[in-house]
Amino acid sequence: MSDIVKIKSELEEKLRELTERAKEIDDELSEPPDADWSENAVEGENDEVLEGVGALALAEIQKINLALSKIEAGTYETCSKCKGKIPVKRLEALPYATTCIKCA
Ligand SMILES: [Zn+2]
Repeated sequence: MSDIVKIKSELEEKLRELTERAKEIDDELSEPPDADWSENAVEGENDEVLEGVGALALAEIQKINLALSKIEAGTYETCSKCKGKIPVKRLEALPYATTCIKCA
């Protein structure tokens, strides 16, 4: 298995996890509010935390999708600034990197 194939399968695994988490958060947020007012206030706070987590998960999903589409297009190892090659070691450490070390 080449390094890129390995990174790709790790990204796909991570994408599955995040999609699952984002879906759970979505379900949680769309639950109808409780009749009890005081409990409602607490739930409102929880919702804010959940929305924050959800936004982070969505941002990461976008980064993973970008990385995966670059792998598909064969440009994953190409720096988006100088068009030089991004070392695989860097991509292993930072799978969402789009630039080489010099351009980062
Ligand atoms: Zn570069």
